[in-house]
Amino acid sequence: MTAPDVIIIGSGMGGATLAAALAPSGRNILMIEKGERLTPSAADRDPEAIFGKARFRPKEEWLDGDGQPFNPGNYYYVGGNSKFYGAVLIRYRREDFSPLRHMGGSTPGWPIAYETIEPFYQQAENLFQVRGTLGEDPTEPAHSGSYTYAPVPDEPIIADLRKRLRKVGLHPASLPLGVDIDRWLAHGRTTWDAFPDTCGGKMDAESVSLATALKQANVSLRTGCEAKRLISRDGRVTGVEVEENGQRALIEAPLVVLASGAVRSAALLLGSADDAHPTGLANRSDQVGRNFMNHNCSAVLALHPLRRNTSVYQKTLMVNDFYLTGGLGGEPLGNIQLLGKITGPILAASSPLPPSLAHWIANRSLDLYAMSEDLPNPESRVTLKNGQIVLDWKRSNWDAHLALVEKLKRLLRKAGYPIVLSRTFDRRTPSHQCGTARMGSDPRTSVVDSFGRSHDHDNLFIVDASILPTSAAVNPALTIAALALRAAKHINETEFAS
Ligand SMILES: Cc1cc2nc3c(=O)[nH]c(=O)nc-3n(C[C@H](O)[C@H](O)[C@H](O)COP(=O)(O)OP(=O)(O)OC[C@H]3O[C@@H](n4cnc5c(N)ncnc54)[C@H](O)[C@@H]3O)c2cc1C
Repeated sequence: MTAPDVIIIGSGMGGATLAAALAPSGRNILMIEKGERLTPSAADRDPEAIFGKARFRPKEEWLDGDGQPFNPGNYYYVGGNSKFYGAVLIRYRREDFSPLRHMGGSTPGWPIAYETIEPFYQQAENLFQVRGTLGEDPTEPAHSGSYTYAPVPDEPIIADLRKRLRKVGLHPASLPLGVDIDRWLAHGRTTWDAFPDTCGGKMDAESVSLATALKQANVSLRTGCEAKRLISRDGRVTGVEVEENGQRALIEAPLVVLASGAVRSAALLLGSADDAHPTGLANRSDQVGRNFMNHNCSAVLALHPLRRNTSVYQKTLMVNDFYLTGGLGGEPLGNIQLLGKITGPILAASSPLPPSLAHWIANRSLDLYAMSEDLPNPESRVTLKNGQIVLDWKRSNWDAHLALVEKLKRLLRKAGYPIVLSRTFDRRTPSHQCGTARMGSDPRTSVVDSFGRSHDHDNLFIVDASILPTSAAVNPALTIAALALRAAKHINETEFAS
């Protein structure tokens, strides 16, 4: 095999999208991926297998801040966490790129403005064939183009919810989604949120980005190939030590791109410490692993005892009336969106409720998701202890989240759901992990520049969720994809130009 021009570590949202955009360069692109491809199985649509038996979760354990082991909901497959995602492909709001005052502190703003990333959001929405509509959401930032596909339709119960929310003064809007609903439902009548995609019904990193990249003969993918360590010499990253089929090997390339997800990328940089970089690679700022963020999230279940919710997928609405305001001093509270339908088996497997009660509730409940911004904090961090990942997540801005949940509960009662229950998402699921190698203009306080290039190593890029300097209060995948497309343009222009 000819030596690669670039090695991309990780085939998730950032890595695969970068590969898709670099592929036309004709350069030899090697992607290495720790996981294997998901293949269709009976478990794919079986809530008991997914939520009860944790069939798809990794076998590994991380430690929490108290040194207690836990099994993280972090997925290692071709396509990464996007294989399980809710496929909400939403832009950060324009205001998210500037410093903002929150109830729990302030966010620093980004080194780029919304207008700089906008064309790449547009490109990402086109690539992922996002289903959506403009003009419904009061916080929507300017779009240079419209969505090509109409939104995924509300089911009748959700159309009724939309009307009820409007009546209590809210502005519900269609969720921008990367879902081919007919294709998804043809393979099983379930929601898609947290279910693995083995039918191509979700527009994810494998079904879209990787499929696009692998159409070109100059792109190759090695699965079951785990990066163990980055090797550096004279300030440059010269290669990647990998483990494949139990064997260690060194793969060298003039350009290396890290895209292993926010926790794993930080762990890899920290674990690659050498004599010249005793605190890890790309870590002159001491920011690698720090500023870990993951959103504050709660499930909010609203029900009327006499009305059944017969929805199958449910997840088509969002409400952003409290995204930029709503706190006591007018501070932002967060985003509200529907969860994928929580069925009896899902609720029974993920709560202490007796199964009969879980089924009774789930047959009636409309299931919402309240999400608030987690603010960057250098003490919220990923470290290594004897090679094992320690994730010491320090939640922030919690009062804003409680205020959002309270407002939502009150409005849902007013909208005709007398029983409203809520439950915070636990710490074991770092679904929206980000921030651990943040971008910035100052090499003293950030790890990469706004293109994802390491301040310390000119030929190392990072293109996954770790480079997000703030978590905002919307789902991260579209922003990761947009940044990867921007990084690819920069690499094509600066590294592959000649
Ligand atoms: C249940 C669930 C629902 C979600 N819903 C949404 C949603 O609706 N909308 C949204 O925007 N986001 C959602 N997310 C989050 C979204 O999936 C992630 O933000 C996104 O996938 C992160 O992209 P990434 O490139 O940072 O990492 P990933 O997509 O996770 O990719 C990292 C890849 O690197 C591989 N890897 C890790 N370590 C190594 C190594 N050492 N060597 C080689 N390969 C390695 C992994 O196997 C993986 O394939 C959800 C996540 C989950 C778990």
